[in-house]
Amino acid sequence: MKTQSWLAAGVFAAVAAASPLATSPAKAQGALVMYCGVQEEWCRAMSTAFEKETGIKVAMTRKSAGEIYAQLKAESANPRGDIWWGGTGDPHLQAAEEGLTQEYESPANKDLNDWAISQWKAAKQRSIGIYAGALGFGFNTQQIKSKGMAEPKCWADLLDPKLKDDVQVADPNSSGTAYNLLATVVQLMGEDKAFAYLKALHKNINQYTKSGAAPAKATSLGETAVGIVFIHDAVVFAVQGDPIKPVAPCEGTGYEIGSMSIVKGARNLDNAKKFYDWALTPAAQGLAGPAKSYQVPSNKNAPVPPQSPKMSEMKLIDYDFVKYGSSAERTRLLAKWDREVKALP
Ligand code: PLP
Repeated sequence: MKTQSWLAAGVFAAVAAASPLATSPAKAQGALVMYCGVQEEWCRAMSTAFEKETGIKVAMTRKSAGEIYAQLKAESANPRGDIWWGGTGDPHLQAAEEGLTQEYESPANKDLNDWAISQWKAAKQRSIGIYAGALGFGFNTQQIKSKGMAEPKCWADLLDPKLKDDVQVADPNSSGTAYNLLATVVQLMGEDKAFAYLKALHKNINQYTKSGAAPAKATSLGETAVGIVFIHDAVVFAVQGDPIKPVAPCEGTGYEIGSMSIVKGARNLDNAKKFYDWALTPAAQGLAGPAKSYQVPSNKNAPVPPQSPKMSEMKLIDYDFVKYGSSAERTRLLAKWDREVKALP
């Protein structure tokens, strides 16, 4: 385990004004089918700004990372998507290995942080890092107080019997967040202890949701005492004054390199490349904060939202993206989780 220090702070860059193309009829510029893996609000901000900037009409659908991967696989004989923007890097790497996405080298690569380029190299140029964020959990301060518990600080604290049916996390088959948890505890504890941990945790789980961010909202509303999420997803509710406290677990934790890939056989390939280049600019990455998304952007010159959790101050594992994003390992771990954890009463 080591503390990562690669998260340099960016400088503020204003969102670029719409180009003259913005007034061109959208039809004349063609279309772009975008599969979007982050929160709906950020997905909409990106698709709207790109449409304005270029006149290219964007058909955007928001889904969780595991679902987008499964959709690309199902559509591979007759691809319908052009660009997969956002979502955890592991399923992007699996898609790259399986030839569901294609190589591209953007001129913007030179402006990106090393971790974004590591993702690009690991994917053999078929995926690139667009943001980073650390995994953790959020707890509802009122619920924890009413249970007479000390504030949870560690992964181990989530096994407390007082939290029976009061912890929520997504299903790792659909959710990139929850697969990141699975791969994180395997790397942190070793596989046997990690599965023992997940089985014990299962006793406290009230629901495996489809989307990774859903447990943050449920925690902020007091529908569950704890939600295991990316820390920045808990911050969204904390900064608006909800009774939720974000935690970077004491044992250490994993992180994601949120990624972008061009679909193999994209019908609107030129537009996919235009989107790809634009999405790596400081102006496009600067749309995150105003859309209440507090990840760390991959362009060194993009603004880091002031609300972003300080990853350089956390105990982060040296997450092995190549191994845990490989087709064999992701498929094996998900099947094992289905058999040994989800199937439990
Ligand atoms: N929400 C945010 C803010 C994220 O950064 C990510 C991952 O990149 C997700 C959600 C992932 O969503 P899911 O776990 O539903 O795949």
